[in-house]
Amino acid sequence: MRIIRGTVVTMNPGRDIIVDGAVAVHGSTIAEVGSFDRVQLKHPAATATGSASDLILPGYLNGHQHLTGDRLIQSSIPDDLPPGEAIFTWVVPVHAEHSGDDDELSATLTLAESLTNGITTTFEAGTIAHPNRVAQAAERVRSRLTIGTWGWDIEHGPFTGAVDEVLDRQSAALDLVTGPLVSSWVSLVGHDLMSDDLVVGATALARKRDVGMTFHLSPSTSDNESYLARTSTRPLAHLNSLGVLGPHLAIAHAVHINDDEVDLLIDQRTSVVSCPWAYIRLGQGLSREFRHLDLWRRGGRLALGCDSENAGDMVDGLRSAALFAGMAKDRDLDPTVFGAHDALELLTIRGAEALGIDDQVGSIEVGKQADLVVHDRSRLEWIPPSPDPVLQLIWGSDGRSVREVFVAGEHVVADGQLQTVDVDALADDAVAAGTALRTRSGIGATARWPQL
Ligand SMILES: [Zn+2]
Repeated sequence: MRIIRGTVVTMNPGRDIIVDGAVAVHGSTIAEVGSFDRVQLKHPAATATGSASDLILPGYLNGHQHLTGDRLIQSSIPDDLPPGEAIFTWVVPVHAEHSGDDDELSATLTLAESLTNGITTTFEAGTIAHPNRVAQAAERVRSRLTIGTWGWDIEHGPFTGAVDEVLDRQSAALDLVTGPLVSSWVSLVGHDLMSDDLVVGATALARKRDVGMTFHLSPSTSDNESYLARTSTRPLAHLNSLGVLGPHLAIAHAVHINDDEVDLLIDQRTSVVSCPWAYIRLGQGLSREFRHLDLWRRGGRLALGCDSENAGDMVDGLRSAALFAGMAKDRDLDPTVFGAHDALELLTIRGAEALGIDDQVGSIEVGKQADLVVHDRSRLEWIPPSPDPVLQLIWGSDGRSVREVFVAGEHVVADGQLQTVDVDALADDAVAAGTALRTRSGIGATARWPQL
């Protein structure tokens, strides 16, 4: 038994915040939550760490993260390319060259950074070529992870194939259970890069196996144009006519959707993962079409994502939460509609509900998994401490003040240091692998990088 002391932001149904509270952890689960005095009295033999000034939160969720491809060329794709070019002349060629070693290294890096920023649960966005290697990375780093494997049936492209072949690969990934932290979901690339047969087959597979499913849709206006040209209907209307929408599905993006599509998402209880930094970084029009606010207002199922290291770049859920809150306030010139506490819900309990795992994580409640984040409020950005710690967490802080992280009760970040991986060795491997990938894929030959 271990007792962790601090002000506890529970995110429980009453959204209780316990000043000078404590969380008692037994094995992988939360055994007790309450005032420090009471928890200590009840468990006198348990070791207590932390102080009343620490801030304890449930582990953060990242609902859309590419673990491979971008990471080894992080922040390398110029940010002034025309739409689509970043993906098809940079990201896709790099993916095509990814070996199993690259996949494992790339995922290790992203999950390591995630943990140090308090992200304890990651959902992969659907671009893993070697799922067994990424599962090994998650086991090594000790991060909770849902794996997403490549799924598209276009004519040319890395890891594409015929419908049956793609579905077989998805099915094999679903069998890949390496331990309690790692699971898989059905993942297609999405957009207009999936045939009707593929998306219908993938939906049937997800329902049969009782797992979640994801694909990309409408981060920009181009999916609307291609679906209208191919089907004469808007993307979500078409997918609904195929029976694809439902509570099993978490669509990445859905930024450029109309009123009817908002209704469909609400009616079908289909989740949306919002990655606001990606849309801003890529200039996709979030400031004009912030429909995620409408979904939130109507009780829609929403989670936050960080996307990739060339579209949002930093894997820090608190930055995404702050941007989402700012966009929500700004859209209708109404700062009353959404605030820091709402943003934290998306990063924790409402995100967990949208991704179907709120029975396990997302709040600090007895019986749930002990995924906990401790922020150090002795750092400068926390001085003086606000009487509302959530307000200060979202607007005045970020992942830098994360000092301790626990995943399933395991102490994976201690005093700011990752305990599971040798970061220096990881850095050496990443530099070598990134350089080799650039050479093999031929990307960046004409890029205007400074000559250093
Ligand atoms: Zn994505």
